[in-house]
Amino acid sequence: MHLSVVVPCYNEGQVILRLADELENVLSRVEGECEVILVDDGSSDDTIEHMRRLHETRPMFRYLALSRNFGKEAAMLAGLSQATGDCVAVMDADLQHPPELLLPMLDLIEAGYEQVVARRDRHADPWLRTRASRAYYRLVNGLIDVRLQDGAGDFRILSRSALRALLSLGEANRFSKGLFAWIGFKTTYVDYQNVARAAGESKWGLRGLFDYGIDSILSFNNKPLRLAIHVGLAVSMSAVIYGLWVGVDALVRGNPVPGYVTLICAVVGLGGLQMIMLGVIGEYLGRIYIETKARPHFLIRESSGGEGLSVTTAVGRNRLLLESQETAPRSTSWLGQP
Ligand code: UDP
Ligand code: MG
Repeated sequence: MHLSVVVPCYNEGQVILRLADELENVLSRVEGECEVILVDDGSSDDTIEHMRRLHETRPMFRYLALSRNFGKEAAMLAGLSQATGDCVAVMDADLQHPPELLLPMLDLIEAGYEQVVARRDRHADPWLRTRASRAYYRLVNGLIDVRLQDGAGDFRILSRSALRALLSLGEANRFSKGLFAWIGFKTTYVDYQNVARAAGESKWGLRGLFDYGIDSILSFNNKPLRLAIHVGLAVSMSAVIYGLWVGVDALVRGNPVPGYVTLICAVVGLGGLQMIMLGVIGEYLGRIYIETKARPHFLIRESSGGEGLSVTTAVGRNRLLLESQETAPRSTSWLGQP
């Protein structure tokens, strides 16, 4: 198998056939065999029926259905863990990631790159959105150890070795932009024009984006904890200095000690600060809690290889499982493949 294309789909019944046509058209121009792995992330519309029909009529399309909505990261991981290609592409179902771009990206893989990343430009974006994302990337890049590129999302092609590296990262809290950057490998970028989604609607609300932002900062290191210590120290020092100044003022100049307002401000301000810092600690603790449960990242309810299969796959975390996958990836019997 030359190229596998992994597409996570959540309620994409309106676009999936258009995507399939475009992908088929593009992949027919690729030398070597290709497969498309459609992952149904617990959709509530007719996405899965479309997938079943696609597989029957055009076997190049394989599918997996997760047992419920696990989120895009898990759906992507499910598809990636099943991909059999020498290189693997990941793209969205809504045609915001133009399938034709796969061809120039594939050329770069053949030229020896291990990760080819499609980077969207922000020309068509509203001014405020562009500013907000610039500020976000500046903040995040200041806080985490890996470097994230503005506009570089999940649309990319990985070589087999880059994929193996990615699958060896077993964390439950998967911030994939960061994970892709963390594995490194020889990386290059291809720019494309951003377009509106072909049909249906985005699953990202403002709240979702905000939570995603927090995740991205917290899932890579403990700098926010360090920052909390610094802020705490700075506030305590300023309290000491202010206290000294009030004392000296009272002793030397005989000024009465100004009380009430200062006291309330200090109490409320410090209370808030402590809550924020407890929140930061709590976030890390919550992550540890989730990780120690070591649950599988996704459950597969059905696949084009056989129905009614219930597969629990803990990628990476369970070394034995990973190794057995690595040694026999093409005969994974639990997918019912030959
Ligand atoms: N997606 C998914 N599970 C989810 C949410 C989204 O598999 O819980 C898929 C969705 O079907 C699409 C891709 O992730 O293929 C990107 O989603 P969307 O277009 O809503 O995000 P946006 O492009 O607005 O960032
Ligand atoms: Mg989209």
